[in-house]
Formats: sequence, C-alpha cells, structure tokens
Amino acid sequence: MTPALYWPGIRPMKAVQLTAHGSPGKFEIRDLPDLTATGSDVVVEVKACGLNHLDLWTEEGALPIPIQLPRTLGCEIAGTVRSAGSEVKGWSAGDRVAVQSNIFCGECEYCRKGAESMCLNNIMLGVQRDGGFAEQVVVPARALVRLPESVSFEASAALSLAASTAMHMLTNRAEVRQGDWVLAVAGASGVGSAAIQIARALGARVISTGSTEAKRALAKQLGAELALDAGDPKWPAEVRKATGRRGVDVVVEHVGGTVLQQCIQCLARGGTIVTCGATAGKDVNLDLWPFFVKQQRLVGSYGRDRADLERTMQWAGEQKLKPVIDEVLPLERVPEAFARLRERKVLGKLVVRP
Ligand SMILES: [Zn+2]
Repeated sequence: MTPALYWPGIRPMKAVQLTAHGSPGKFEIRDLPDLTATGSDVVVEVKACGLNHLDLWTEEGALPIPIQLPRTLGCEIAGTVRSAGSEVKGWSAGDRVAVQSNIFCGECEYCRKGAESMCLNNIMLGVQRDGGFAEQVVVPARALVRLPESVSFEASAALSLAASTAMHMLTNRAEVRQGDWVLAVAGASGVGSAAIQIARALGARVISTGSTEAKRALAKQLGAELALDAGDPKWPAEVRKATGRRGVDVVVEHVGGTVLQQCIQCLARGGTIVTCGATAGKDVNLDLWPFFVKQQRLVGSYGRDRADLERTMQWAGEQKLKPVIDEVLPLERVPEAFARLRERKVLGKLVVRP
C-alpha cells in the first residue's frame, strides 16, 4: 500500500470491479482510494445493493453504449450519507438513503417538470459511472431519496429499481382504479412481484402468470387471485374466462414478443397495456382493427421519476410493498451472484451487502 495511491483517502475502500466483458465476465476485488465528494455530489456508504438483469448486460458488454473498464457495477443502492460537497443542502452524514439509478440532469425540459425518467442527459449508475458493489459510491445529491426508518437497507436495495419501475407503470403511465382487473405478467419477477402488490393496494383484482409451480405460488402469495402457467399457450383464454369474457383493464408487460400479442388478447375494451421491456422480442405484429375498434392503448414506460421512487419507499415503510429476497450475499460473492442470476436459479432478489 503506497501512500500516493490512496491519497486523499484515509483508508482504502473495497470494490468489486468488472475488468473484462464476458459471460461470465472477469471480476476483481480491489482496494480503491477512499471517495470524496465535491460540488453537488455526496459519498454514500453502501449498506446494500441489489443485482439486476441490467448488471448482466453490462457484464456481457451487451448494452448499446460504450462502457469504460474497470467498472464497479450495481445500480440498486441503499446506504447512509458519508460526506457531501460544498453545494449540497438538506443532507447530512448518517442520513439513510435510497439512490435513484437513472441519474438525471435536473435541468432539461423533462427534469424541470418532474419527468426525470425522460431526462435527455440520463446517465446509468453502475454502467456509465461506478455503482454500488463497493463500500462507497459517489452520486449527485439530487439522486437521493430519504429512506424511512422502517425500511431496511436490504429491503430498499431489493425494491428501488424494479418496484419503482412498476410504480411508474401503474400510477403514472397507466391509471389503475378500484375494482379494475389487472394482469401482471411474470408475477415472480422483480417488476411482476411489485406490480401485483401495487395493483392490489390500489384496489384492483389481479391475475398473473409464471413458468413454474414455485413462481405461480409466489404470485398468489403476493396477492394474485389467479396465477396461470405461462408455458401453456392457452393462458389468455383463461384470463378471458376468469373475467367473465370481458378481459382486463390494465396489463403490466415487460417481456415483449409473442407475450405482448397474448396480452392484447386479454385486454378489455378501453384497456391499456403498459410495457417496459422486450427481452422476448422487439418486433411485434399488431392487428390494428380490433385495437382501434376496442379503443385500446399501448403505452411505453421507462425507469422511474423521482416521485415514483419516493412513493415506492413510502409504501415499503407502510408495509404495502414487500420485497422478495432470495439471498443476501457479501461483496466477495458478487461473481457467484451474477452466475446464479444468469442461470435463473433465483426466486426474488439477490442483494449484496458490502
Ligand atoms: Zn434532465
């Protein structure tokens, strides 16, 4: 340990860094200089960081953006404020925080009206700048949301990305009303498991899908009254049957491809499909005739606004939204966590605790 290397830090901090892309990529646990905050930035002491499919795409180098290596991955961060730059107001050391992973500029026309998910200068934490699989991370203070005392760091790290995405879909991009029928696709997934709970809290009746018995059981445990086998091509007919042939008012979709086509078959007159992903296919055939006759909507959704993350943490504090955590792992086991997520050997979230 040479003093120059760790200047200006007091002690080194540990980070797991990606040093080469691949499937699996190459990770190294490194001692890095203690971080410092300047201007409007803060240093957050990371207490927990969730693992997401986005991290796998970053690991593989599969994102359509250049990534500089080495890079500390991890975008779903909870922790405490450690230090703040001179321009930061309203935050002090020890404050419990969740971090918004789509770091917005705060100045463009969309940010000015609170639509940070549409920011023109969006930067992804853990992709374009170092993220949370480390003991510390530097983020702009505007990306912080206060974490209620009743929400643990692990719960926050398991909810702040997928659940706030679902919150944005169900309370911003689409509007769920008391008594609505909602179809939440893939109820054991991050977005799906949150969507079931949010729809129920809004007074909706929920139908979900899952590819295994365990996933369907989880969807029911979270509040779905019906969980259908996603592998059975006839599942949309079951949705129509369960709703007295009328179909559902809102579909929360994040798979794309043929699943989106199946979802359209489940949609009631005047219904809305809100979608935030296309892992099963980007190109979808749409029969426009029934679509306009039934006056349906197909709505895109991406990320979350600051207000969505705040509401997510508030609902978590009120026990309306509970995380589904598979396992909490130490920093040293990050490569293993990536492998498990890739092999889909996970039910709920993997959370890393530095
Ligand atoms: Zn902006």
